[in-house]
Amino acid sequence: MRSNQRSRVNILGSGTCVPSLERYPCSILVRRDEMQILVDAGPGTMGQLLKLGVHIDDIDMILLSHFHLDHCAEVAPIIFATKYPRFDREKPLTLAGGSGIRDLFEGLNQVFGRSLDMEDSDFRIIEFPEKGRLDFKEMGIGYTRVIHKPESRAYRFTDPSGFCIVYSGDTDFSEDLIEFSEDADVLICESALPDALKIDKHLTPSLAGEIASRAGVKKLVLTHFYPECDDADMEGECRNTYGGDLVLARDLMEV
Ligand SMILES: [Zn+2]
Ligand SMILES: [Zn+2]
Repeated sequence: MRSNQRSRVNILGSGTCVPSLERYPCSILVRRDEMQILVDAGPGTMGQLLKLGVHIDDIDMILLSHFHLDHCAEVAPIIFATKYPRFDREKPLTLAGGSGIRDLFEGLNQVFGRSLDMEDSDFRIIEFPEKGRLDFKEMGIGYTRVIHKPESRAYRFTDPSGFCIVYSGDTDFSEDLIEFSEDADVLICESALPDALKIDKHLTPSLAGEIASRAGVKKLVLTHFYPECDDADMEGECRNTYGGDLVLARDLMEV
């Protein structure tokens, strides 16, 4: 049943591949009414979903930002588990992402003895070019390439009420991402390491803050924390460049 409900988003994993009981690897859940979009699927995502009362059969789409393991290692297990005879999926599953996602799936399926084969009516793959927009059910999903890997995409979800959530995926600083995030209600932005430990192709709190400030986003959520972030003043560093509503992601929180 449809309503005027606004989209909601939960952080499933706010960490990386470094093992942690507090921070699972990257994944968020975007949902509105019955529609559920899993954005990234790091190891442990199925269990994190269950903690929110969401079963994999409820997921309409798995959307990947890129193909690093902390963002996509659970894809094969999710598709394999979907075939478990006692599960009763009532809607097709879409797997979507940047260039090479079809090859990624085919490679996994080959390695695992074609155990991921699904009926065409139950499963489809969408491969995004560098920039564009997909209308998926009632959700508009904009995408744009970001600076991390060739297939890396940031996503912008706009629901019929106009509420807008942007997810950066992994990225370095870019003017494109500022433009792409313009006036978003929520920007979920990677901030992998503190300012002093900045590495190539990742952001830090003050850079994420600069993107959010210049884009005029209403709420900034920092996520994708390496353990080094636990010893740093991530909020204080972000406050050097951003004065708006600020949240440091925690697993399972709704933002
Ligand atoms: Zn990455
Ligand atoms: Zn990552």
